[in-house]
Amino acid sequence: MSITVETHCPYCALDCGLKLHVDQGRVTGSTKWKGSPLSRGGLCTKGITAWQQVHHEDRIRTPLVRWDGRLRPATWDEALDAAANGFLKLRDRYGPAVNAVLGGGSLTNEKAYLLGKLARLGLKTPHIDPNGRLCMTSAGAAAMQAFGVDRAMTPLEHLPAADVVVVVGANLPDAFPLIMPLVTRARRRGTKFVVVDPRGSKLVKDDDIHLAVRPGTDTALAAGLLREIAVRGGVDWPFVTDRTTGADDAIAATEGWDLERTSLTAGVGITEIARAASWIAGARNGMILHARGVEQQVNGVQGVLSWINIALARGWAGRKGCGVMPMTGQRNGQGGREHGQRCDQLPGYRSIDDPMDRAVVAERWGVTPEELPGRGRTYVELLHDAERGAVKGMLVMSANPAVSGPNGARIRRCLDAVEHMVVVDPFMSETARYASVVLPGSTFAEEDGTITTTEGRVVRIDQAVPPIAIRGDLDVIRGLAHRLGVRDKFDFHTGREVFEELKALSAGGIADYSGLDWDALRDKGGVFWPATTDNPDGTEILHTERFGHPDGLARMVPVVPSGPSTLPDADHPLVLTTGRHRDHYLSGNQTRRIPAQADRAPAPILEVHPRTAAIMRLVEGEPVEVTSHQATITLGWIPNDRLRRDTVFVAWHWEGVNDLTDDALDPISRIAAVKHTPVAIRPAVTTVGPSVPALRGEAVGA
Ligand code: SF4
Repeated sequence: MSITVETHCPYCALDCGLKLHVDQGRVTGSTKWKGSPLSRGGLCTKGITAWQQVHHEDRIRTPLVRWDGRLRPATWDEALDAAANGFLKLRDRYGPAVNAVLGGGSLTNEKAYLLGKLARLGLKTPHIDPNGRLCMTSAGAAAMQAFGVDRAMTPLEHLPAADVVVVVGANLPDAFPLIMPLVTRARRRGTKFVVVDPRGSKLVKDDDIHLAVRPGTDTALAAGLLREIAVRGGVDWPFVTDRTTGADDAIAATEGWDLERTSLTAGVGITEIARAASWIAGARNGMILHARGVEQQVNGVQGVLSWINIALARGWAGRKGCGVMPMTGQRNGQGGREHGQRCDQLPGYRSIDDPMDRAVVAERWGVTPEELPGRGRTYVELLHDAERGAVKGMLVMSANPAVSGPNGARIRRCLDAVEHMVVVDPFMSETARYASVVLPGSTFAEEDGTITTTEGRVVRIDQAVPPIAIRGDLDVIRGLAHRLGVRDKFDFHTGREVFEELKALSAGGIADYSGLDWDALRDKGGVFWPATTDNPDGTEILHTERFGHPDGLARMVPVVPSGPSTLPDADHPLVLTTGRHRDHYLSGNQTRRIPAQADRAPAPILEVHPRTAAIMRLVEGEPVEVTSHQATITLGWIPNDRLRRDTVFVAWHWEGVNDLTDDALDPISRIAAVKHTPVAIRPAVTTVGPSVPALRGEAVGA
């Protein structure tokens, strides 16, 4: 029998719709879903081939348990028993905080919710945090501080209604390809673009202003712009007075950041800064799209706040064509940070520190507030805790820190130190090689649920085929929960059942899903949260009258410009910044296995400005050695004259690239500062390839 299932691409958080074709129980292809929201049927190269992961020959089809040093096939009962017993033994010996859970921003809302519940009620540990900690936490922390809500302010379809769009540290054509038709529409309508990026992507056109900021100096550039906007009389004082607090202090914090000083610090011409300030000051409607370039810094939260200050100073909020938009990398990076898989959070974006929030969740889960663990440690901290022996058990679901973690050699030492690691993944990831137990995970086509797009639109994921390994992720969580002694609290068999509990529990929280209806989500093509029973159609534009803080006012937070933790020096004169390649997704565990994607981008390539390459005596076609304070690796390289001369770039989808990066953390968001690593480069004498040592137990035994 042949059927067609409307669902969404599993990669970036534009979550483009597609139709999966299913024949005799197998996904055989995909076509456009023209009625899908936002993308209207469009798909990028990754989305077109996404269906190929479902029945890929590399899928893990059988649970694996390590015996005699090798991972060997096991029955589901054997593997789930081994997984749960390992955690219970550690808990009996060292206490519940010895176990930790690393979740992921690709999980559906329902899996993220259940994983948080499993950690707190099943493992009884405070330690659960998703890989979104490496991705969206600076954006989230800044939005919560400024607006009291962590969600994009408006649908991306409103982009053409903006007079000016400022894109900060976001490589839209490569990381969010299907936003480009909207960019084109906006340009045709006359929208001006200011692009802040040390590497000029294909986004930058001749009529744009490209501020090729020196990596690590975003707060200085934003301070100079805000000051210049104020000098030009561009502050929207009626808006600022009525709807914000802190404006005077925020503007005062930019004192001294005149055009000259800003230019010298940020490495951008005075004329460009002045022109950008003039465009921003003159635009009634404007949007700021920001992403990892400004966020993955040791001052990432401050960086985002400094751009939020500009938006608020201009009154860019609460109406069509206005807003601050965090561009989310993972397909459910938004929902995945709302429903309780963060160490500081309970479902519905409730705070784990707030007695009222704890009481609500405890009551619904049938425990006392005292039984709910408190705030745990964050993602990178938990990995480092393993190195020092404080964490000995680790459940990893939909995360691959062996590739994505900063300072990769240290991350490998951390993973090696974990005594009992259980990995749930559709494919044998680099992290899974360290596992005691590997449980087959589900792809996007095998279970139903919901995800929340980068815009805050909740959309439905429908099951196209049964899980190829018999049990899906929900089944895995339920199986673990039963063995951890909380059977009565995990009686779920479908995503829809979990959705009903999640949405009821979210009522009254910041991320309120209580008015969503499972069937209506499909009929309407998605609904923006908050959606309450009084407002089931949801909320497209946030902050039309009030911001999320109790007094309804937004906060303009003074940002004193600061720099990176480690500056370039004579031994490491350049700055390495990392990013994404159009053809791969995150750690590449899915896309590197799909031939069309792998053929287009088979290996990491360092991009170097031609003048820099000449000074460093690099030879085209010959490899380059890259040395940071953390490591030395060898890569192929290509010239790129759209890069700053003091900056080199590499995409991070391959193991070993992150060996170079710095693991200094932002003090608030605890995000790693991977966008700024001092490096030296020189012609290589060794073979191309990251210098990754052999991993423990790579082979899977028969
Ligand atoms: Fe759309 Fe992103 Fe998927 Fe490409 S990767 S098809 S832009 S959701």
